[in-house]
Amino acid sequence: MSSLADRRLLAGALLGSLLGSLLGSLSSCGKPSAAPPNVLIVTVDTLRADHVGAYGSTVTRTPHIDRLAEEAVVFEHAAAPMPLTRPSHFSILTSRYPREHGVVNNAMSLPESALTLAEIFAAEGYRTGAFVSVRLLGSGSGAQQGFESFDVPARTQRAAEEVVPLALSWLDEEDERPTFLWLHLFDPHQPYAPAAEYREGLDPKLVERAPAMDWETLIQLAQANGGDLPARIFEYTKQLYAREVEYTDHWIGELTNGLRARGLLDDTVLVFTADHGEAFENGYYFEHADSLYEGTMHVPLIVRYPRSLTPGRRVSAQVSLIDVAPTVLEAAGLPVPEAFSGRSLASAEDEPERMVLLQHPFYQPDAALRRPDRQHEIESVAGMPTAPVLVDAERVGVVGGGWKYLRTGEDEELYRLEPTPDEGQNRIRESPDRGERLRAALEEALSSHPLNIIDPAEINPQLLELLRDLGYVE
Ligand SMILES: [Zn+2]
Repeated sequence: MSSLADRRLLAGALLGSLLGSLLGSLSSCGKPSAAPPNVLIVTVDTLRADHVGAYGSTVTRTPHIDRLAEEAVVFEHAAAPMPLTRPSHFSILTSRYPREHGVVNNAMSLPESALTLAEIFAAEGYRTGAFVSVRLLGSGSGAQQGFESFDVPARTQRAAEEVVPLALSWLDEEDERPTFLWLHLFDPHQPYAPAAEYREGLDPKLVERAPAMDWETLIQLAQANGGDLPARIFEYTKQLYAREVEYTDHWIGELTNGLRARGLLDDTVLVFTADHGEAFENGYYFEHADSLYEGTMHVPLIVRYPRSLTPGRRVSAQVSLIDVAPTVLEAAGLPVPEAFSGRSLASAEDEPERMVLLQHPFYQPDAALRRPDRQHEIESVAGMPTAPVLVDAERVGVVGGGWKYLRTGEDEELYRLEPTPDEGQNRIRESPDRGERLRAALEEALSSHPLNIIDPAEINPQLLELLRDLGYVE
């Protein structure tokens, strides 16, 4: 395990090598006097790829994200490493899988020893700022590392209409340095509560009865119907989610138009992605933390930087959110630390055989114990049974090449994802050769990315016990 001192040495080495590599990469792209670009990472919490027009959405209109996609490189198959806010965001910011950075649920914090993208850009002389929209990603989470401005909502969460103008104002502050900005939007996350103008065309009776949906309302509606959430409510709730995505798209338009108007857009390495999606199928509904199916794991990933990335290119190879940080560094002409597990996608050709790792969160037992109760309050959704919440077994998998393999203890699942995801039919018995290949890929991924849990002294005792039971710590 790397100590803080090791990390500082690494950061120092990075700085030492900076000038040479910066000159090298600038000369290699033939622009000897180009200024370092600004960097903007936009993460939308809980955004399913299939609700974005550029990814084939038929249930939303997202013209602003789609325009961004047309001007950028679109990664068609990007996977979240874990369907949970803190673990996945920290994979974006550190280029390490959750099992490596050690934050394997939302109750853990990123240790000081982690090397983050913001710390690297700060060391390179950038002005660094973050605007997050949920307190879960506030200073206590460790997300603040490397940010000289770190703006957290005073309440539990805040809407895009509040945070996008704040981020643009921050960009307007006078400062000669290039900027590294992380903007996090939370609107598609439940409660699904789109503003009135986004509820037009929805079932007026349902709008009157429940203009917003949260978990408690869904439980009440299910309880009034013998534990089964009616199909009409299920469809309506998905529509509310879709309208929240459309609201978010509007504010992505305000953001990109704001950058364009300021003459900043083309000088910015802009990443648009999501930390995870939302579950609407496979036994999991209206949440994300327990599902490793495509609804929660397939996220949009769009990278715009017309100075070196060909607009309109679509990459079909499997990638992961751990690839975001090295991609951004390479696009900005900076070296990629060896500690990173991802790879730069800035100049990557398609790699049809690449597999990336998926992992279920490790719950703290006290939190986990509450979850089955919550789940059982909705016994089924539109006649389809809900899945039990997993609390006591490791669930891991790999995805790539149009296939997904998941393993929970001894149980194996193999799914075909092309041409469209078919996660209703487990093909582990009918495709033993493919199962064997993906099983081997999983073993390889687990051994090359070993669990590197935070200093045991910093872990909640109950979680430590769970990890001990799983054989991860002595
Ligand atoms: Zn999230």
